[in-house]
Amino acid sequence: MGALSPKSSEAVPLHGDASIVSRNPATGQILGEVPVASSDEVRAAVARARVAQRDWAAVPVAERARRVLAFRDEITTRAEEVIDLLVREGGKTRSEALGMELVVVVDLATYFAKRAEKILAPQPISLHLLKNKKSYVHFVPRGVVGVIAPWNFPLSIPLGETIMALIAGNGVVLKPSEITPLIALKAKELYDACGLPRDLFQVVTGRGATGAALIESGVDQIVFTGSVATGKKVAAACGERLIPCIAELGGKAPAIVCADADLERTANALVWGAFANSGQVCASVERVYAHESVHDELVRKIVEKTSQLRQGDPSGEVDVGAMTWDRQLETVEERVKNAVAAGARVAIGGKRRGETGMFFDPTVLTECRQDMDVMRKEIFGPVMPIMKVRSEDDAIQLANDSHLGLCGYVFTKDREKGRRIAERVECGTVMVNDVLFTYGAPETPWVGVKQSALGFTHSEDGLRELCQRRHVNVDRIAGKKEIWWYPYSQKTFGRLLAGLRLLFRPKRRRA
Ligand code: NDP
Repeated sequence: MGALSPKSSEAVPLHGDASIVSRNPATGQILGEVPVASSDEVRAAVARARVAQRDWAAVPVAERARRVLAFRDEITTRAEEVIDLLVREGGKTRSEALGMELVVVVDLATYFAKRAEKILAPQPISLHLLKNKKSYVHFVPRGVVGVIAPWNFPLSIPLGETIMALIAGNGVVLKPSEITPLIALKAKELYDACGLPRDLFQVVTGRGATGAALIESGVDQIVFTGSVATGKKVAAACGERLIPCIAELGGKAPAIVCADADLERTANALVWGAFANSGQVCASVERVYAHESVHDELVRKIVEKTSQLRQGDPSGEVDVGAMTWDRQLETVEERVKNAVAAGARVAIGGKRRGETGMFFDPTVLTECRQDMDVMRKEIFGPVMPIMKVRSEDDAIQLANDSHLGLCGYVFTKDREKGRRIAERVECGTVMVNDVLFTYGAPETPWVGVKQSALGFTHSEDGLRELCQRRHVNVDRIAGKKEIWWYPYSQKTFGRLLAGLRLLFRPKRRRA
């Protein structure tokens, strides 16, 4: 392999362990070098953010939202510059950098900026018994939110979370992945150019230890996106400190293809859903369960469409770019090798491409079985394993036979049936006749079940999750005392018991 990414133990930083070298995964070219922040530096960044956040929290929500829009405008104005870096550091195509990163952030910022005042307005609670009292919940910024981000969407994931947290009145300290630090620093540069308080949003570059230091630095909440293994460590560290933690983790999205699916749309969707961003998407189509009556025709179409994909250096006009991290490439290669050894057939692809750069052929595997690693473990690369099933019930059962549950997909021309199947699939989001896209719909919750997530992001409730919920109750009459206060007596006991029977009227029920 010519290109080594910084997570590789073989990568040699120019200035020892205290720095990280960022490289272009398509060419191996060095793009830059960033420092590894120490625990003290992380703690100092959080302390500065905390000071800035106190003033920011006092700014009315509508004004905060208006000011955050300047950040959105800066990103939009300098879109080409950001796309260029996303392509060079992340290995993704220009279309993916635009459609899956920039558009997502810009739209999310606009959506929440417009609605934040309403979403974060106090919520009255009508008490069902005590009409002399009034309750409401109000939303108070948590303080400083630590965002720990992965390398596969180095702009849309951390900036989406950062923008929501800022609108909610928080400060943010971001620890990007060591694989894609330059994009995070570019985001900070754009932020600094738009007149927002400088210390309110900060970036600390480094490796896993810097992320761990961020959790220990006194932050008030962690929003983590990454693997299940790291997510467990992060959740445990947050639990130790009793700070709230949102964790968005791995996926193994099943796609169920029914006998009545529109095969042309299905094949187009699956090819894009499995290979977009070189398959490095937590929602990627990671396993296909195709009804036996359509399996062969579906495979034929998928292979034909895959054969037409252009792969190469994403600075040119291609459909599939480079993978981002050499270790991930090795994992993908191993998954395919093991699947083939266990009896899977390579219908197309199946190997690394070229001498330099981190490319893996868009790969379709058929004759897969549920017990193969390729059907059970996250691949996170451009590989689509397909399995023939006898019935839709079998497909649902196999789809649910997983420790992960982020996204799932159902293909059928019968929308009602699609809805019924979708409701039986154990995933946070199930799309009928589509793939991937709801991460880009900020009004919908981004949520996983099983080991795919702890909590959720996006949606109105996702914005509220970045605040403390505080409850206030006001007595509207304020007489001398309540009946349940001291002194206790037989008389008040009798009145309360009579009240209980009057209100809840026990009925004689038949066994
Ligand atoms: P990792 O879990 O390896 O890393 C995620 C982040 O955590 C990185 O910034 C990493 O730093 C940091 N980190 C590593 N160790 C620790 C630690 N002990 N304490 C705190 N932070 C730490 O994930 P990847 O970056 O490899 O991302 C790929 C994974 O992310 C896949 O499983 C994918 O499914 C998942 N993902 C989930 C999404 C979702 O929305 N559910 C969306 C996108 C990806 P460093 O990189 O410097 O080691």
